[in-house]
Amino acid sequence: MKPIVAKFGGSSLADAAQFRKAAEIVRADADRRYIVASAPGKRDQSDVKVTDLLYRCYDLAAAGRDFAPVLAQIRARFAEIMAELSIDFPLDDELDAIAARLREAPERDFMASRGEYLNSKLLAAYLGFRFIDAADAVRFTTDGRFLAEGTNEALASALRGADYAVVPGFYGADDTGRVHTFTRGGSDVTGALVARAVNARLYENWTDVSGMLFTDPRIVPNPGTIDRISYRELRELSYMGASVLHEDAVFPVRAAGIPINIRNTNRPDDAGTMISHNPPAATERPVTGVAGRRGFTVLQVEMSLMNNEIGFGARLLNILAAHGVSFEHCPTGIDTMSVVMDSASFNACREAVLRQIELQLRPDHLSVEEGLALIAVVGHGMGGTRGVAARVFSAVAGAGVNIRMIDQGSSELNIIIGVDDSGYEAAIRAICAAF
Ligand code: ASP
Repeated sequence: MKPIVAKFGGSSLADAAQFRKAAEIVRADADRRYIVASAPGKRDQSDVKVTDLLYRCYDLAAAGRDFAPVLAQIRARFAEIMAELSIDFPLDDELDAIAARLREAPERDFMASRGEYLNSKLLAAYLGFRFIDAADAVRFTTDGRFLAEGTNEALASALRGADYAVVPGFYGADDTGRVHTFTRGGSDVTGALVARAVNARLYENWTDVSGMLFTDPRIVPNPGTIDRISYRELRELSYMGASVLHEDAVFPVRAAGIPINIRNTNRPDDAGTMISHNPPAATERPVTGVAGRRGFTVLQVEMSLMNNEIGFGARLLNILAAHGVSFEHCPTGIDTMSVVMDSASFNACREAVLRQIELQLRPDHLSVEEGLALIAVVGHGMGGTRGVAARVFSAVAGAGVNIRMIDQGSSELNIIIGVDDSGYEAAIRAICAAF
C-alpha cells in the first residue's frame, strides 16, 4: 500500500496536549509513515509562535542586543513539551549551539528554521520514528532559489531507507550547507514535496479547522466547509483570498495527482476537505466556493474606432507591463477598454502610466476609478449549467449592490464580478444565500 504523508501545522503541535492528539492520529493508521512538522504555533489567541520568537532573537542578535530572554521563552516552550511527554532529548545542548551561532554569525533563515528542526526531533523521539533533516534533502541554490527536481531526488533517496520518519517543514539547504526557508507557512510546501517524493496515495494536512470554508466566515458566519474541491478551484479561491494552504503547496502534488486532505487535529473524525483533480459532478452543486478581495482600480480608455486599430490593446497592456503592473481583468467594448489592476501596484506608478497612455495612444477619454472589490464565484459545476450567472446577478441586485464589471472565462470555472467596496460584503452574503 502506498504511504500517507501527514503534515501537522503549528497549532497542531503547539504543546504537549496537541502532540498527544497528533501522535494518536499518526498511530491510528500504519500507512501514515512520513510526518512533516511545523514549529510550535499559538496555544491561544494571545500566544506567540515559536517561529516569531526565533525571528525576534535573530533581530536582536543582528542588532548586537541581548537575545537571552527571548531564547529562554523558546527553551520553555520545548522544555514543557518534553517534560509532559517524558521525551528524552538534549535540548540544552541544542539551544546552546544555536545561541553560540547566533552570537558569532547570525543567519536569519537558519534561526527561523530551528523551530521546525527542534519540534521534529521531539516528535520523532515521541513517535519512535527516524528524524530526517530537511537540510539534507530539500535543495536550494546558494542564492536561495528552490530546486524542485534536485529536492525530489534527494528526498526520495533519503526516505527510501526509512519506513517511518519525521521531516521538519519550512526549510532546506544549499550545497554549502547554508539553510534557506520557504516563505511563511512553508511547511505545507515541504509536506507536498515529501508526498511527491514517496509517491504517497494521500497528502494529509492537519490543521485547526475542519477544511476549507465555502466563504469568508468574517462576512458569512458558519458558512460550512467544502467537502471536495479541485486543484484548479482551490487555486482560484486562494488567489482571491481564501487561505487554507500555502500557495506553492499545490503544484508538487497536483502534478503527481496526489490528493490533499485538509483535516482538523482537534476533530479528527471530521472528513475535512479533499482536494483532487476530480471535481464534483455538476448536478451536485454548481458553486464550490465564493471568495473576494478589495483594493482594485479600473482604468478606462475610450477611443472612437478603437476596434479598427490593430494592436491598441497590446500597446496599452505593454505600457502597464513596462511599469511592472500586472492586470487582473480586461473587459472590452467596441470603442472602450477597461483594465482592472491591483490599486497598490498601479498607484506606485500612476502618473507615469497615464502620461504614457496619453502620449502613445492619444485616447478620447481616460479615467481611473478606485475602490473596486472583486468577487469570484467558483465551481466546475457551473460548466454547462444554465442559470448560475442569473442567480448570482439577481442575488447581488436584490442586495441593492450595483455590478460594475463582469468576467466569465469560457472555461466556465468562475464568474467574477466587480462591485464598489461599500457593497462588497452585502454582495458576498447575498451570493452565498443564493447558493
Ligand atoms: N513555522 C513557519 C511559520 O510560522 C512555517 C510553518 O509553520 O509552516 O510560518
